[in-house]
Amino acid sequence: MKFATKTIHSGYDHHQHNRALMPPVYQTSAFAHDHVGEVLEFGYARTGTPTRAALEACFAALENATHGFAFGSGMAAIDAVLRATLQPGDEVLAVADLYGGAYRLLTKVMAPAGITVRFADLTDPASLADALTPATKLLWLESPTNPLLNLVDIAALTAIAHRHGVKVAVDNTFATPYLQNPLDLGADIVMHSATKYLGGHSDVLLGLVAVKDAELAKSIKFIQNATGGVPGPQDCFLTLRGIKTLHLRMERHCDNAERVAAFLATHPAIEKVFYPGLADHPQHELARRQMRRFGGVVTVYLKDDSRAAASRVAERLQYFLLAESLGGVESLVNHSYTMSHGGMPPEQKAALGIREGQLRFSVGIEDIDDLLADLAQALA
Ligand SMILES: *Cc1c(COP(=O)(O)O)cnc(C)c1O
Repeated sequence: MKFATKTIHSGYDHHQHNRALMPPVYQTSAFAHDHVGEVLEFGYARTGTPTRAALEACFAALENATHGFAFGSGMAAIDAVLRATLQPGDEVLAVADLYGGAYRLLTKVMAPAGITVRFADLTDPASLADALTPATKLLWLESPTNPLLNLVDIAALTAIAHRHGVKVAVDNTFATPYLQNPLDLGADIVMHSATKYLGGHSDVLLGLVAVKDAELAKSIKFIQNATGGVPGPQDCFLTLRGIKTLHLRMERHCDNAERVAAFLATHPAIEKVFYPGLADHPQHELARRQMRRFGGVVTVYLKDDSRAAASRVAERLQYFLLAESLGGVESLVNHSYTMSHGGMPPEQKAALGIREGQLRFSVGIEDIDDLLADLAQALA
């Protein structure tokens, strides 16, 4: 089955649900047994519901996986992956410029719990062998990264990690399964904040994990049920509904982002544009190889590198709303320094190149002429 068919037909059998075209929202905490000791497919809603199962199966199909798992947020999904793969004394090596929330979870929750947390610039895959130690059990990757759209070579890094017995997890939120499938590149675990493109309409918070190894699936399923960070049925329904148009939305996100990146690249108020689709992006060749298109997020450094300048542009924009998050149908602008990466220490932000005069655009699926006119007036 091809991708656009999977989004609509995978993971759900209407014959099992009174032929309803969409999975019903099973708004129930438990299911009745007919007799003592009866084993039900669904018994208690933390362990599973038919609505969640439909989402998990559909998502697993999109990532060419065998098992999918839904969580109450992207962070709950990351937490479950870390708990399922690491014990106190183990080490996780993460790509240096990762999502601010993942950085906080690793440094403020996992490290105090006895996990050794280290970060490395993995732009050059050959540097990985030296960065691993005998204690390293998990490599945590993100590509493209938030907010500077750096890529890592997932296939090359995975090959090296596996030679050292290290499992590889990839946060695939920015690429979505439509543009990139980490498990096909060799990774063991793929994770998404479905709050972003998969949900796609800025109306749901949800996280997803998929694997194709039965042992790993068992560990993640155990943590999902034991710690209980699961989404409710309405949120599963909304995410499934979003997924049905993922392929259409991503094409328009990519079309619009390419035009926005090209427009900003020649604008006098802009110092630098970060977008993997631009020929001068340092990893443009890797992006062409690893991704089907280049995604919907564009980041810029303003020539005036000040919070005031960033604030002025953000306030003047009419269609790009100043908000956290990304990946919805509407365009958003984000001041990474104070918003998504507000919790990161200033020295760390400086080291990564996250500046005061920097804005990240999540380019929506509005008419491109209106978006370009909005950017032109705000930057004038
Ligand atoms: C938003 C985001 C997360 C966290 O997901 P939530 O759904 O907000 O908990 C993780 N990784 C990336 C790349 C994100 O953009």
